[in-house]
Amino acid sequence: MNDYYEILGVSHDANQDEIKKAYRKKARLLHPDYAGPESEDAFKDLSVAYETLSDPQKRQMYDIGGPDALHGGGGAGGAGGDAFGFADIFESMFGGGGGFASSSGPVPRARRGQDQLLAVEATLEEETFGAKKDISLDSFVVCARCGGSCCEPGTHPTTCPTCGGTGSVTRIQRSLLGNVRTQTPCQACQGHGTIISDPCHDCSGEGRTRTRRTLSVDIPVGVDNGTRIRLSGRGEVGPAGGPAGDLYLEIHEKKHPIFTRRGDDLHTWISVPMSTAALGTVFQLQTLDGAREVTINAGVQPQDEVVLNDLGVGHLQRGGRGDLHVHVDVEIPRKLDQRSRELLEELASIRGETRVEPRRGDQSMFERLRDKLTGQ
Ligand SMILES: [Zn+2]
Ligand SMILES: [Zn+2]
Repeated sequence: MNDYYEILGVSHDANQDEIKKAYRKKARLLHPDYAGPESEDAFKDLSVAYETLSDPQKRQMYDIGGPDALHGGGGAGGAGGDAFGFADIFESMFGGGGGFASSSGPVPRARRGQDQLLAVEATLEEETFGAKKDISLDSFVVCARCGGSCCEPGTHPTTCPTCGGTGSVTRIQRSLLGNVRTQTPCQACQGHGTIISDPCHDCSGEGRTRTRRTLSVDIPVGVDNGTRIRLSGRGEVGPAGGPAGDLYLEIHEKKHPIFTRRGDDLHTWISVPMSTAALGTVFQLQTLDGAREVTINAGVQPQDEVVLNDLGVGHLQRGGRGDLHVHVDVEIPRKLDQRSRELLEELASIRGETRVEPRRGDQSMFERLRDKLTGQ
């Protein structure tokens, strides 16, 4: 319906230049200042289409999953938090629909298939660099034997003799107020107006069969835990070969043994021995991009962090990457052997480190927070 390419009037393989030109041309025609206020909506649609297609990453997302794919996790359930907001989407996707239409005329056999939701596990590496994944799912496909007609090959549905093809029967009931006409769906044909006397042997006249199929899907760079990707028309086929519903992939992030993700940034914690913290060191850290040298400066303090730029996760829409934060913990020996004890005692005496004192003038975190809040 709202095809961005159609709105801009360009083909699906148009390059950036063509998109820009098409936008300029249309924007001149549709701008409310020239075309009047009634073109405001069309101009807005045009702007959204251009904004999406002129950004290679957004365009890729749109190509994969349509406009909904651009609204990452939490589109319906608010920001983050509830990784399993399934109830909500199930209700909005699968609620309603079905049942008899109350309008007159026969009810068509073919109906749109249901949407499907599938959890897809993704590793941090896959979220960072993107991935192609084969996923398999059980869903309805058009019956190969009858092609969705529901009839055994060579046979056809026949007009229902009870309702004469109208799908409903009219009854006249006498009541105190006179004759009342009531129309009810025809029981003989379930309101379809036709009868299938020889249902397809493979699908028992349903026009579709349940099959396990494998799909190759693209996991775009930057998806996060809970991001939903919509694959339009890749859900299950409806009864009597009706159009397929949509398939939603929900990303479930696999826990990484070392890295924790917060937004586009990654965090990891290292333990540095007391003496190393004082002396400084260089070590190799295995990042998502391979081994990287990390420098720990002499005199590093507990809770200090070393930031490695651009080694985080890729951003879904604006491109670029987050950072990798290496948090330092300083390890103090719990037990000392005789020799270590002697050396430390000697060191302490050289440095005059014998007294323990209260830290004057040093605010507690609570006090700092209080001052910040009261604006002091
Ligand atoms: Zn069939
Ligand atoms: Zn009938």
